Amino acid sequence: MSTIFTEVRCQVIRELLLKGELCCCLSDILMTVIELAHELNLWRQITAAVNTALPAAESDKLLLRLAELPIRSSRATRSLGAYVSKAGEPVCIRLQFAQEPGHLQETFLHELAHLCDHLCNRPGKRYHRAHGPDWRSWAERLGAAPQRCGQSDALEKLYRQRLKLVAVCQNCGTEFRRTRRLNRRRKYYHRDCGGRLRPV
Ligand SMILES: [Zn+2]
Ligand SMILES: [Zn+2]
Repeated sequence: MSTIFTEVRCQVIRELLLKGELCCCLSDILMTVIELAHELNLWRQITAAVNTALPAAESDKLLLRLAELPIRSSRATRSLGAYVSKAGEPVCIRLQFAQEPGHLQETFLHELAHLCDHLCNRPGKRYHRAHGPDWRSWAERLGAAPQRCGQSDALEKLYRQRLKLVAVCQNCGTEFRRTRRLNRRRKYYHRDCGGRLRPV
């Protein structure tokens, strides 16, 4: 992890991402949950939620687990964030920092509710990103809207910017735009006219 990025604040990260001046892969591990929570002024809210939900000994243990979890940046434009676990253990929270600051806070609490749900209700077991009653009560305690996913205009814009011309129909000239290039070893045909597509 480069030391520059531990000092970069989320607003700065967001501006750089939107300007295309920060490569997301360079900024992989940005900070830990406690660092981001402090930055967003949410740590007090999070500790209060955990303290009311659990007896003292358990809440301290959970808060320690939450605090140290890495926050990684995500390149996804179709999702605002994700809670990642492997073999029953938490790995990280991924966040797309290009989303609006208000969304970032909401997404962070949403993913944190998955982490709390996993550690409290299914410790050591595989966790599927369920949005059931257990997750929902953590979301409510933490102050996140207990709904499945959000939408961000900034990400929608980024998604549209990333669309590139990938193929042209050789028969009718229709242009096709995607975020990823076509596999050049395969043949593609235009569904509407049957013409062969020429990859760009
Ligand atoms: Zn979720
Ligand atoms: Zn065509």
